[in-house]
Amino acid sequence: MMERCDQIERAAHYVEAENARMIAEARASLKTSGTADCIDCGRPIEPKRRVAMPAARRCIECQSHIEAEKYHR
Ligand SMILES: [Zn+2]
Repeated sequence: MMERCDQIERAAHYVEAENARMIAEARASLKTSGTADCIDCGRPIEPKRRVAMPAARRCIECQSHIEAEKYHR
C-alpha cells in the first residue's frame, strides 16, 4: 500500500519536472529568438498566446485545425 502511494507520488513529481523543463526551454527560446513562428504556416504566434502557453509551437488557427482533426478521428 505504501509502496503504491510512493510510486504515484514519484510519477507526479516526474510530470511536474517535465512540465517545468518544457516551460523553461520555451522561455529560453523566447528570449533568444524574440519571436516564435508557427511550425505549420510560419506566421508569428500571437504574443498573448505565447504568454498563456509558452510551449505552443503553432498559431491558434493551426492548433485548432489539429485539435479538430483529433476529435474527428
Ligand atoms: Zn499557423
